[in-house]
Amino acid sequence: MSVFQEISDYIDTISVIDTHCHKLPRQVGFPAGIQDLVEHSYLGWCHRDWDGTKEAAAEFVRGLKHNSYFFWIEKSLQKLLGTEQRLDENTYPWFDQKIREFSSSLASDDEFLRNVCHYDKIVLDGYWEPGTNLGNPGLYTPTYRINQFLFGYQPDTVDDNGNNPFLVYGWPKDLEFDQYLDKIEEKITEKMAQGCVALKSSLPYDRSIHFKERTYDEAKRGYQNPDASREDIVAFQDYIYFYICRIAAKYDIPFQNHTGLGNLEGSNAMLLKEVISKNPKTRFILFHGSFPWTDDALALIHNYSNVYADLCWLPSISTTTAIYFLKQLIETGKADAITWGCDSWTVIESYGAYLAGRYAVAKALADLIEDAFMTLEEGKELAENIFRNNAKRIYLDRI
Ligand SMILES: [Zn+2]
Repeated sequence: MSVFQEISDYIDTISVIDTHCHKLPRQVGFPAGIQDLVEHSYLGWCHRDWDGTKEAAAEFVRGLKHNSYFFWIEKSLQKLLGTEQRLDENTYPWFDQKIREFSSSLASDDEFLRNVCHYDKIVLDGYWEPGTNLGNPGLYTPTYRINQFLFGYQPDTVDDNGNNPFLVYGWPKDLEFDQYLDKIEEKITEKMAQGCVALKSSLPYDRSIHFKERTYDEAKRGYQNPDASREDIVAFQDYIYFYICRIAAKYDIPFQNHTGLGNLEGSNAMLLKEVISKNPKTRFILFHGSFPWTDDALALIHNYSNVYADLCWLPSISTTTAIYFLKQLIETGKADAITWGCDSWTVIESYGAYLAGRYAVAKALADLIEDAFMTLEEGKELAENIFRNNAKRIYLDRI
């Protein structure tokens, strides 16, 4: 058996801690066919339409068959449906029917995630209801999305998900700035008491992550002030982000940060350098390797001991980049800083993400073993750390 196969098989025995997931609430018979799968996965972000016609299917497959999202979802379907057929313009009606049968025969999404994907725990980012555990705290431990607190500069301005704390929590609209700050801390501690194990920023979908240190007075000018300039509002938001970093340090709760892609402009992890260097006690977990700027994420992880690498989404975006990034992290002595999450909405996509993550980790480790940088036993140990033990340690055994 090849070294790659041995590591890959070993990963299947690990009780995985999936540190980032958007699993949607269960609906029996969902996804109902390929259309739903495309709409509720990253395939829907690929600028290709799927309308169920043969012409569109041919165009879709021609454009995407070497795309990593497509490849791993196709792999997931092949394994789950017991076929080696490729999904193309001739086979798609068969796949469509089989996905419907699979979805309506699935007794429990949660049992699927436990038994087929081997997830012991899942850190859920339910942005539609920040802090939700889908009613199954045994499997889902929530993260708490903080974007909305940067949008309370007016009672009706909203973040990318349509949230604002005045609207979501019914806070009195005449809160003074100090009271607003107190309420944020109260809400975070309340969510921690309810089981949230991390804070989460997906702010690159809202604005630049170039947060600068601001004074209290600068920030206050941007709060509920009808004459506030754009710069005053940015100062308010920067201040709130720094304030949340201090809360994260105070309660020692890891702070998960989406980096890379998003709005592109202003999403490179390197833009966090100032806030990272000024908050050495905050645990910054950088998601997605700041793709495509993985070198910038690597530089931060290398230089700051409070910065961690979560591979979530990366093996599905570009498997090659994930392998390269993993090897670089290991070679720079950062193997203990690596975690993995599926970053998916449905069980089919989650299983595909698991296959992608397993492949990337097994390939990176097998290469290093074959080049004699480590032994097979050491490789297995690192795999177990990446898929489980590092998350236990970084999230302080709260997961
Ligand atoms: Zn995500």
